[in-house]
Amino acid sequence: MTSTAKLWSELQELNEIVKEISQCTACILSKTRTQTVPGTGNSKAEIMFVGEAPGFNEDQQGIPFVGRAGNLLIELLSSIEMNRESVYVTNLVKCRPPKNRDPNTQEIDACRKFLEMQILQINPKIIVTLGRHAFSFFFPHTDARSARGKFMDLKNLTIFPIYHPAAALYNPKLKSVLKQDFRKISAFIQNYPKQEESTKTTSNTTKQLSFFE
Ligand code: URA
Repeated sequence: MTSTAKLWSELQELNEIVKEISQCTACILSKTRTQTVPGTGNSKAEIMFVGEAPGFNEDQQGIPFVGRAGNLLIELLSSIEMNRESVYVTNLVKCRPPKNRDPNTQEIDACRKFLEMQILQINPKIIVTLGRHAFSFFFPHTDARSARGKFMDLKNLTIFPIYHPAAALYNPKLKSVLKQDFRKISAFIQNYPKQEESTKTTSNTTKQLSFFE
């Protein structure tokens, strides 16, 4: 397949996931949402950001991280010379929990397959979890605070847990920690081994079979 044809078919598949999300009624959040918030960005992103759940603005616009936390995310990306269009941004759950409460286990489980499909389809080099809820999805038995800023392997995924940008809105001291962690993300991508890259693309089928066993 030519690279244009491959990109087109990847976009088609991501759109299929978006369509499935838009029709989902698997949990109670479907009853109160204005619309689903599937995720946005580059279908071939090297970096995937996973937040917690859409808030008021996201629910209105159907796009993740469009409020104040989103503005900070853009600022942090630009500090490493990246932008939203070059990465993929999504959440653990694709519908807004009422009054912005935390999503519960049942809601996270109902949405699990969508995030897993997005990861398989995009095949990012690194998944950056924003806050403890997103981190616990991948590492339910590890303390999020002690893991922050460390690269963690999960099967053939690399997970990098950082603070949720909203935390830095309440505690501005955390902004410099976030900036430092973004520099680590940038260095990781720049030093990403070429050899691993070729293994990654060729082992996609194996990856699908072994994903989150
Ligand atoms: N916080 C999140 O975790 N996700 C959003 O989309 C917005 C705010």
